[in-house]
Amino acid sequence: MQGIIIDAGVSPRALKKGMAEVGLSMQSVLGVCITHDHIDHILYAGAYGEKLGLPVFSTEKIHKGMTVHPHPKVKVGASKRVINHEVAFHLGPFEITAFEVPHDGSDNVGYSIKYREKTFVIATDLGHLSEGVASKITCANYLVLESNYDKVMLDSGPYPFFLKNRIKKPLGHLSNDDTAQFLSSAHTPLLSHLFLCHLSQENNRPELALQVVKSALADKKSHIQVLCLPRGKPSECFILSP
Ligand SMILES: [Zn+2]
Ligand SMILES: [Zn+2]
Repeated sequence: MQGIIIDAGVSPRALKKGMAEVGLSMQSVLGVCITHDHIDHILYAGAYGEKLGLPVFSTEKIHKGMTVHPHPKVKVGASKRVINHEVAFHLGPFEITAFEVPHDGSDNVGYSIKYREKTFVIATDLGHLSEGVASKITCANYLVLESNYDKVMLDSGPYPFFLKNRIKKPLGHLSNDDTAQFLSSAHTPLLSHLFLCHLSQENNRPELALQVVKSALADKKSHIQVLCLPRGKPSECFILSP
């Protein structure tokens, strides 16, 4: 079995442990793909690259953002691999294409990954669903999509005003309603599994996100399995048919 790591906010030690619990090994990992240079996505990128010897793929701007970021202890060096938006590359059996998403990192991408006949798409940390993102999502069989906040919880929650504003902006994050409304109207006949990710600890609850998104899909898209990915611990292991 071979695989890819998307983003590096979790330490290699924690990831190894989580993988071992479901019978997977780091030996099977071919590389790391980074979505953008915010710290929750890059803290351990250098550790995966330089200590474990995995190639670290991202755009030149994101690599630059990682290099100048003050927090990661180990920087990406020889393991750096530069990719470009919309230019597919191959990693083992996977064909991977980075596509632009609207967010406020130095540069921001989602990934579309083809394996045999199936397409897996991940889009997290994005303020709205642009046409470019929509065109990728509609090709997905398996989709990991952000559902970051509940509007009422954010408005009444503890975040300072400037941060609430940043989250709501077109280059911020997707709310449960944004995600639900888009999916209810998007043409996604291929989609079989939808994983909601990057739920805010303070401004969202998994049951709320699930309820909003499931009810928006209830009429015509009830064949889609909708699940929430947990924060700070591994999810169950999903075996998706190739
Ligand atoms: Zn993030
Ligand atoms: Zn971010």
